[in-house]
Amino acid sequence: MNPSYWEKKYWLSDINFIIIGSGIVGLSTALFLKSKFPKKNIVIVEKGILPSGGSTKNAGFSCFGSLSEILSDLETHTNTEILDLVNERVIGLNLMRKTLGDDNIDYKKSGGYELFMDKESLIYDKCIENLKIINDLLSPIFKDDVYKVVSTPNCFSKLKPKCVFSQFEAQLDPGKMILSLIKLVQSKGIKLLNNINVKSYQESDNFVQIETNFIDLKCDKIVLTTNGFTNKLNKLEVAPARNQVLVTKPIKNLEINGSFHMDRGYYYFRNIDKRILIGGGRQLDFENESTTKFGTTHLIQNKLEQLLRDIILPNHDFEIENRWSGIMGVGPNKSPIISKLSERVYAGVRMGGMGIAIGFNVGKKLSEIIS
Ligand SMILES: Cc1cc2nc3c(=O)[nH]c(=O)nc-3n(C[C@H](O)[C@H](O)[C@H](O)COP(=O)(O)OP(=O)(O)OC[C@H]3O[C@@H](n4cnc5c(N)ncnc54)[C@H](O)[C@@H]3O)c2cc1C
Repeated sequence: MNPSYWEKKYWLSDINFIIIGSGIVGLSTALFLKSKFPKKNIVIVEKGILPSGGSTKNAGFSCFGSLSEILSDLETHTNTEILDLVNERVIGLNLMRKTLGDDNIDYKKSGGYELFMDKESLIYDKCIENLKIINDLLSPIFKDDVYKVVSTPNCFSKLKPKCVFSQFEAQLDPGKMILSLIKLVQSKGIKLLNNINVKSYQESDNFVQIETNFIDLKCDKIVLTTNGFTNKLNKLEVAPARNQVLVTKPIKNLEINGSFHMDRGYYYFRNIDKRILIGGGRQLDFENESTTKFGTTHLIQNKLEQLLRDIILPNHDFEIENRWSGIMGVGPNKSPIISKLSERVYAGVRMGGMGIAIGFNVGKKLSEIIS
């Protein structure tokens, strides 16, 4: 397709920064970059009609790690690294709330529960042994105990899983959040171009040229915020990880309220609009779920439905309204990569399972290293 004179003039030329990817990190990087360089021309290019990775596909948990997850991360990270990670997540969430406002993200401080079934009694015992140590570790951030043992909410009374509650967890609406963020970004004069798939880029002394499915574009600098898809453009240490979700139709007399984690965080569920959203199960088929291809599988969807039937909604009839998947970016270390890769190329990728929590902070930090 040949762009018109006007399209070239107003959209496609004299670009200072091209941000590749319009997820939470790309959008927030653009926002902070614009406030640092108000006169610069910033364009975000996105391969999908909508953001097409994780940011509009996720569960909307405003969380920083369940007790068992933090305990497990402590096996591969130092205390300081964990404290930093949790701190980054909390800072990111606060920055998002401050920038967009709680109403615009439907922020609800409903608390988060971690459920332990009978077969997880060993993990539960280990968590309880370490509860005080972890609360003490996190106390510089929260100034209060984060995790406490509580009795199982009544709705689970049949199976009585053991339960640890985190008062600081919350829920938000990721669709509303990204919509509000796009509105804010566009109100600052940042351009968002959808359906532009970046195939490669070439850096020279004076500019970067990107090859896309539509037209080649030139700019001063590019920023990769492509998360799970990054390897198609640059061999950074980030791998794709698909995550599947389903949501029920509205359920009468639904009592469940809050965010719930099960099986060391491999499953998660929450209430939304009188429905239950449940996701996870990658551990059932790591090999096939390490992909950038969207899609759902019988293996994982059946397991999610089984959890609904047996544990979450044993006393309710329910129907499934919607199933989908999203792609995350993961790596050997839980910290995101926020980096200057060369004179004209920057990256903010590898958000793991908590990109909604850290996304804004990554965007801010990235904008700070871009000169
Ligand atoms: C099912 C699911 C549930 C989750 N639940 C939670 C949760 O409850 N809480 C939480 O904190 N996190 C959660 N996450 C993780 C979170 O969604 C991600 O970490 C976060 O959205 C990552 O944001 P991002 O901007 O880095 O990447 P993305 O949102 O994936 O954005 C990257 C964008 O880059 C675009 N792109 C990639 N390559 C190209 C290219 N070559 N050209 C143009 N565009 C390109 C993609 O289309 C995509 O829109 C979940 C993830 C999934 C999948």
